[in-house]
Amino acid sequence: MEYPVYLEWTNCSLGGRRPWFLCPAQGCGRRVAVLFGGSIFACRHCHKLAYECQRETDDDRALRRAGSIRRRLGWQAGIANPTGDKPKGMHWRTFWRLKAEHDAFANASWAGMAERLGLLSRRLSGIECNLNGDG
Ligand SMILES: [Zn+2]
Repeated sequence: MEYPVYLEWTNCSLGGRRPWFLCPAQGCGRRVAVLFGGSIFACRHCHKLAYECQRETDDDRALRRAGSIRRRLGWQAGIANPTGDKPKGMHWRTFWRLKAEHDAFANASWAGMAERLGLLSRRLSGIECNLNGDG
């Protein structure tokens, strides 16, 4: 990908001038000292946003899909909440299919969360050991 990156010069308080990059990401244009490369070339702020978007994990996706089924069924948002009833006017067959999909996504999401919590607690206990060791 090729696009121009603009520089802007400002006066330093101690005299002299220093250049700044203007973030080339659409709608940004922040004046920054450092631009980050990678799949996009942008300031730290834009780079972080793009990176977090790409990093959606399987259980994030499962959670999102479970959520959209809950909305469709008119259930209370959040898979920690109990499942609800069939909305008026919906065929039972549709309802059971959506409920089965919802349960599968919710289970996948719980499993992913449990795994990450497990990883997190292992990491935390590792940090604790290091801190104690450095004591
Ligand atoms: Zn930016």
